[in-house]
Formats: sequence, C-alpha cells, structure tokens
Amino acid sequence: MTFHHRHLLGIEPLHPEEIRTILDLADQYVDLNRRAVKHADALAGLTQINMFFENSTRTQASFELAGKRLGADVMNMAMQASSIKKGETLIDTALTLNAMHPDLLVVRHPHSGAVDLLAQKVNCAVLNAGDGRHEHPTQALLDALTIRRAKGRLHRLNIAICGDIAHSRVARSNIILLGKMENRVRLVGPPTLMPSQVGELGVEVYEDMREGLKDVDVVMMLRLQRERMDGGFIPSEREYYHRYGLDAEKLSHAREDAIVMHPGPMNRGVEIDGTIADDINRSVIQEQVEMGVAVRMAAMDLLARNLRAADRPAGVMA
Ligand code: ASP
Repeated sequence: MTFHHRHLLGIEPLHPEEIRTILDLADQYVDLNRRAVKHADALAGLTQINMFFENSTRTQASFELAGKRLGADVMNMAMQASSIKKGETLIDTALTLNAMHPDLLVVRHPHSGAVDLLAQKVNCAVLNAGDGRHEHPTQALLDALTIRRAKGRLHRLNIAICGDIAHSRVARSNIILLGKMENRVRLVGPPTLMPSQVGELGVEVYEDMREGLKDVDVVMMLRLQRERMDGGFIPSEREYYHRYGLDAEKLSHAREDAIVMHPGPMNRGVEIDGTIADDINRSVIQEQVEMGVAVRMAAMDLLARNLRAADRPAGVMA
C-alpha cells in the first residue's frame, strides 16, 4: 500500500495513488461498519486524543467512533473548558498532551495553519479535522469516496461546488482533491463569496447557478459560514436562497442522474431546499456521513502502520 506520511494535514501533499490507497481501504471499512460486530484491531494499544477548539458534531463523533471501532483508547478533550481559556497557548497545550504519549492527535482549530504548527511540536501522528478556511482533508476524502461509490469512478466528472467558497475549507480541500483526480470543477456563487485567487485554482467560475449546474454529475452545496465573515457578503438570506438555494428547478439543469451533496451542518431554506436534501434518489448526504467513519478509520489505520513501521509509538521516540 502506498501511503508515506507521518501526518494527515491536508490534501495538498497527497499523491493520487495515496488518495486511492485511503479510499480502497475505506471501502473495506464500509463493509465492516455494516456488520453487527464492527471491531477491528488496527489501533489496538494506541491512544487517540481529539482536540476540538471549534464546535463540531459530525466530525468529532466520526473520529471518536472510528478510533473506538479500531480498538484505540480514545479521549475527547473538552477544549472549551480547558486551560486555553486560562491563557495557555496552543503550543503549550500541545506539549502538555504530548507528554502523555498519545499516538494520534485529531485537531480542529479556527485558525488556518494552526494544525500544521502543532504537528511540528509533537512526536505523534496529527490529523487535521479542519483548520480555519485552509483544509479539511478527511471531509474531501469522504466526499471522494461517496462520489466514487455513487458514480463508479472518480475521474472525468463535472462537479459543481456551490455557495460560500471563500470561507470554506471543505471547498478548498475538495478543489485540490478533485483536480488531482482529473475532474472538471466548477465554482458557483456570488463574486463576494469567491476566493481572491480563484484564477489560480484551475476551475471554472459561474455567477449564474443555472448555467453553473448545466449537465454536471455532482452538485456539492456549502453552508454560509457566518462565523468566518466580517461584514455583509450577501444582501439577505431570502435573496440568497432565491439565487443560490438548491431547489428542484435549479437542480433540473444538472444531469438527470446528478447526485446532491452537503458536508453539514445544513441550513434548510438558505442554501438548500429541505425536499431536495431528503430526496433519497438524489441526495447522498447520509452516505457522506457513513463514508466519514470509514475514511477516518482508513486514514488512522495507515498513519498507525507508518508509526509502527518506524518503531515510533509516540513518546518512545526522543
Ligand atoms: N462541517 C464543515 C466544516 O467544518 C462544513 C461547515 O461547517 O459548513 O468545515
């Protein structure tokens, strides 16, 4: 199996073959997760610590389940109530945890680059569970697995990513991954929600949603990430829904068999109509959640193999 990394900090450093390796292993974990008894021992004896400095429902639960199903000792740090609130720096918190010899550290942080910085200070494997508007690698991998299973391939597809691209780490990781796998990516949204260097991303940009969705195989919707906006980016939610909310009429411009995705949390009636989100013939939103656990199991399994191969169970190193 090809996967030669110590950490999973982003999609950027991954080779297409490594992406395939993660997805192939995740396929096996999907099968395991559908059995009554879901345990494997890939992480037996290892300690996984989840540090979420930003709220999370899906991602944290998914990483926790993934670790437990693979036999790790999993601990969730309540970062809201932690020493950070007492003024401790991110690095001091990381060093304190590092001294407890974790093997896998799963980190979400509101600042872009914070997880990379932390990874340089610890001697265990670090997984980025979302840093600011930078990357959210496991989300892009679970999206890729969902697409590959629904479409039977992960190349030469037309994929529209719609909405608040500028503030979205999900969009960024997906643009990188889908580009590496040779798909055509379109970004659809108002100019105020497009990233500034959109010209360098190798994508097509559409302001008109109907044009942007024309004949696409995949429609990926995004939430308006107000927590990362500092000003008025849209006139009103009503107006936004009118122009960019995915409803049956707008979806009718995509291919008849196009799938609808959303990373969650979803705002019904803002970026997506509830009936579309619930339409089991079009929406794969629940499959995305299912694939999330399998992809995280695969990613942690591969990182743990590298830890073991280097005979570097955390802490024993220095
Ligand atoms: N859950 C995703 C993230 O953490 C998407 C979102 O929050 O809208 O980036």
